[in-house]
Amino acid sequence: MMTCYQNMKLQDSITTIKGIGPKKAEAFARIGIETIEDLIFTLPRIYEDRRNVVPVSGLKEGEPAVFAGKVDLVNPSGFRSRGRRVLKLLISDNTGSVEVVFFNASYLAGTVKPGDFLVCFGVPRMNRGRLQVIHPEFEKTEEVKGEILPVYPLTKGISQREMRRIQRIVKPLYAQVPDILPEETINKYRLCGIEYALENIHSPVDKKKLLEGKYRLVFDEFMVLETGLMAAGRGNSGTETGAVFSGSPLEEEYIDSMPFPLTSAQQRCVKEIMADLSGRKAMNRLVQGDVGSGKTAVAEIAMFKAAKSGYQAVMMAPTEILARQHYEGLKAAFARYGIKVAFLSGSMKASEKRETLAGIEDGSSDIIVGTHAVIQPEVKFCNLGLVITDEQHRFGVNQRIRLKEKGENPNVMVMTATPIPRTLAVVLYGDMDVSVIDEMPPGRQPVKTRCIEGEESRRKCYEFVKRQVHQGRQAYVVTPLIDQSQAMDARSASEVHEELSSIFERTALIHGGMKQSEKDEIMEKFNSGDIDVLVATVVIEVGINVPNATVMVVENAERFGLAQLHQLRGRVGRGRFQSYCFLILGSESKIAKRRGEIMEESSDGFYIAEEDLKNRGPGEIFGTRQHGLPDMKIADMVRHMDVLSRARDEAKAIIEEDPRLLKAENQPLKARVIKLFGEDFSLNL
Ligand code: ADP
Ligand code: MG
Repeated sequence: MMTCYQNMKLQDSITTIKGIGPKKAEAFARIGIETIEDLIFTLPRIYEDRRNVVPVSGLKEGEPAVFAGKVDLVNPSGFRSRGRRVLKLLISDNTGSVEVVFFNASYLAGTVKPGDFLVCFGVPRMNRGRLQVIHPEFEKTEEVKGEILPVYPLTKGISQREMRRIQRIVKPLYAQVPDILPEETINKYRLCGIEYALENIHSPVDKKKLLEGKYRLVFDEFMVLETGLMAAGRGNSGTETGAVFSGSPLEEEYIDSMPFPLTSAQQRCVKEIMADLSGRKAMNRLVQGDVGSGKTAVAEIAMFKAAKSGYQAVMMAPTEILARQHYEGLKAAFARYGIKVAFLSGSMKASEKRETLAGIEDGSSDIIVGTHAVIQPEVKFCNLGLVITDEQHRFGVNQRIRLKEKGENPNVMVMTATPIPRTLAVVLYGDMDVSVIDEMPPGRQPVKTRCIEGEESRRKCYEFVKRQVHQGRQAYVVTPLIDQSQAMDARSASEVHEELSSIFERTALIHGGMKQSEKDEIMEKFNSGDIDVLVATVVIEVGINVPNATVMVVENAERFGLAQLHQLRGRVGRGRFQSYCFLILGSESKIAKRRGEIMEESSDGFYIAEEDLKNRGPGEIFGTRQHGLPDMKIADMVRHMDVLSRARDEAKAIIEEDPRLLKAENQPLKARVIKLFGEDFSLNL
């Protein structure tokens, strides 16, 4: 049997493994497993420690345990209960007996006989006052070999047993996994070998070795991430001359003409940007500011400076709605200064698009605002000196790079409302300068936030929404799921939408699975007040500005990260009306309560981000997703921050020595970088 696997290669499809047909392969593909290598790098989430055999009298309800003993009694051929065949065994050791039950498994009746010795693993449950173990895993053997068993992530159609089976089959291939690190690095950090690491992660013999192996893989994963980031940022930290904006300081006058005085945080940020823009080195700056802190105004001034210095500037936003909002604002603001603003999106008519592209190419457009349409190959700029990415965490690294490459070493500014604790920002954006807008424009009333639980409170909450709507206001209702098919115990958007349709006349549903044009149409209606209650998944998280909306209701709030809840709450409280946020908790866990309290207490995005790190609930949120970075499999940017910073230093050294990863010894690393960031990324290497 084993012989047929001898010629297996890492890049082979998993269908070369016996028992994996096209249908199984489909299931595996859902969790990102297509090749043998993918399988090998699918690591256990947790482990079941089956080394200690618990005496039968020591079994406790709800605690998974290994126990062993003699089969004392078997009810002969099984009897029926509610249509199911039931087989009951009594297992005894010298401390007592426990009942073991199998449903619809009468075939076992012939296999297991009184007097047999069984080693079982299962979770005892209480049944009519007695402990009982239903469907334990068992083995007919006298020898109790202690084992730590891996528990793998699964998907529908793949059982833990099956996953463990095929993971065992591919073990011999660990030896083929290339080591991506130079020997120097391995020695310097006293890392274990990759084969040893995989061996001890998939089948650990003790905790120390498991941790050694884990450390190695976490280090590797960060190395791949950081090497990619370093390669992407290559040229930014050098002395290359960017577009120098020498335009006379007209921006002073422009700032004075704005409809509001800048906050002092905005002023500070503008000053930092102006210094960058008139310097000889290209700007490379991250502007961090909480939702509503006024980042757009800062970007606007930078774009003004670019245009007045004879350069083009482009601003990319993640949604069409947001891009259009920026476009309208800039067009109005720049009109009397003779600065031409163009809009570009994927859904434009062909003729319109052609005209716009021509204007960008011949330089008659000074400012270009758009969606990711602006990074398509057909878009050619004339003299691009400044690129701005708004809500940068919604874009992938590749997209940000492609925008930058539209110009010749242009000034780069990225804006984000995701507060990143400083410690982490240094590692993630080490090469970037950071400006923080840590002050809100005056006159904002904080959003009143309440956590609620239970049907009665929920009903009252929607009554409150109804009163707001009667007063002419609008509301958002956000749910974690689109529809119930995703089989989670939480309310879905379609369910809530249906329910609310009977309470409110003008409601609509919006979610990420819809076509862009459909989403735009609905947002347009909400914007113009034709919809009162908008039921949504997190698609509305970014940017959108509807000052008349005063209520944000979040269903199953425990399923969102604090940073995300904060972003959602930022959708309201944007106008002159008092606004409200209701967090409906579907779980009474302590951690959910604590997180709710934090939201009630604070409206400070940075404080919330720090607390988010301390109180991370289920479905970890402060992940890569928030930063537009690829997902990490085992590494955790927060928990393993010290490893991240070491990997960063190493990656930096490698890229400085071999900027395009051309050396033979860097090929395995390069392959992994491309795999992590996607095929497109090879363009950067
Ligand atoms: P964000 O940082 O979330 O992108 P915006 O730039 O959209 O925030 O600004 C939010 C709102 O605050 C806008 O309506 C904007 O006109 C207004 N605003 C920005 N700066 C100021 C200021 N200094 N004083 C008063 N209002 C301001
Ligand atoms: Mg914004």
